[in-house]
Amino acid sequence: MTPTAALIIGSIVDLAGVARAKAVPANRVDAFVTSGMGASPSWSVFCADDALAFTDALSVVGDLRLRISKSDLRDLGDGVSWAPATLHELDGSVSPVCSRSALRRIVEVLASSELAARVGHEIEFTVFGGVADQQWSAYGLSAVLAQESFIRELCANAQRAQLEIEQFHAEYGPGQFEISLAPASPVESADNVILARILIGRTARAHGMTVSFSPIPTVGGSGNGAHQHFSLTRAGVSIFSGGQQAYGMTDDGACALGGLVTHLGDLTAVLASSPLSGMRLQPNTWSGAYICWGHENREAAVRFCAESSGNPHGANVEVKVVDGSANPYLATAAILAAAHAGIVDQTLLPQEVTVNPSTLAESERGERVPTEMGEILQRLRASAVARSALGNPIIEAMVAVKELEHSRCADLDVSTVVECLRYAWSA
Ligand code: GLU
Ligand code: MG
Repeated sequence: MTPTAALIIGSIVDLAGVARAKAVPANRVDAFVTSGMGASPSWSVFCADDALAFTDALSVVGDLRLRISKSDLRDLGDGVSWAPATLHELDGSVSPVCSRSALRRIVEVLASSELAARVGHEIEFTVFGGVADQQWSAYGLSAVLAQESFIRELCANAQRAQLEIEQFHAEYGPGQFEISLAPASPVESADNVILARILIGRTARAHGMTVSFSPIPTVGGSGNGAHQHFSLTRAGVSIFSGGQQAYGMTDDGACALGGLVTHLGDLTAVLASSPLSGMRLQPNTWSGAYICWGHENREAAVRFCAESSGNPHGANVEVKVVDGSANPYLATAAILAAAHAGIVDQTLLPQEVTVNPSTLAESERGERVPTEMGEILQRLRASAVARSALGNPIIEAMVAVKELEHSRCADLDVSTVVECLRYAWSA
């Protein structure tokens, strides 16, 4: 918090991936930290379109609290500070549906085996009201220069908020940009995703533009991914380099990758399950539509990036399936839990896919990431990895939310759904 802050905002991310917030005047910051600000249990069963998927456990009865820490506050400018919040019961204990706390628990599980993760997020978004579509070229210099003042101001705002942006480029679709954030610890990194969305949204508004993080921002347009990179160390030493397995992976590293590929399909509910997510997960869009892995393979759901001078943060693994509708805390928790399960179970690393998987026979290219909601939720429910990582309360609430979201959109035409959800994941 800066000495001039007038407004303090704290936010959580719900199970539909939507950020929901409470705000207080700056003189109330201590109350936000100690007793917290009220939130009905319904906050955990909101759908992306704000419909409510009440369950027996999460209904109109009860009350929860959003709490922040002063040390997490970031300066957004204009007298506004923001912090990520955690969800608590009235007695002060952590709520079992708090996604930030679920990720913390996975970090502790890893730490008990001397494992530590770093996570780096890529954020794709589509800007409306800026450069005309005809002036756009993928990765185009002109697109960057045409939005120069937006980008410059965003970089300055990020610096003030202590958000480390590593790079920025114009993406494939008209109006689409991508920002890479510097790797950080898993929880801080997920916090940074929300901070980045806030800063992107605020800066765009100041330029008269709107921003969508939706997996499908326009009908027929380029999808927005939210790829996550992670690295893992054991006792401080990378498990993805310096070993005897493929591309220098250690035995642990190969098993972690094996676990990720093995469990990924079961975790799709947590990674990409909005009513629009399946539409994005198409072959030849670099969204990782096939569940397989490959060294620097941009069509594989899991891309291995080996240690090299071009990878200054060291060897890491990119999970491409994730989109902007995912709760970033839960998506990271699921990814790390799958990698951890691979290490514990000594899962064999499947055969690498070294070409575009869609050019291979069905038996060789890996299964498609599931896109049918019934299958996605059935696999989530049946997944022991998901249950132990997220806990039953989160799984049951997520199933209720996703079922209702799906049924509400089932009879609508695509363009209505795309329009209705265009800004659901914006901040
Ligand atoms: N837009 C693609 C997606 O939906 C990703 C493109 C890229 O690899 O940057 O995942
Ligand atoms: Mg991209």
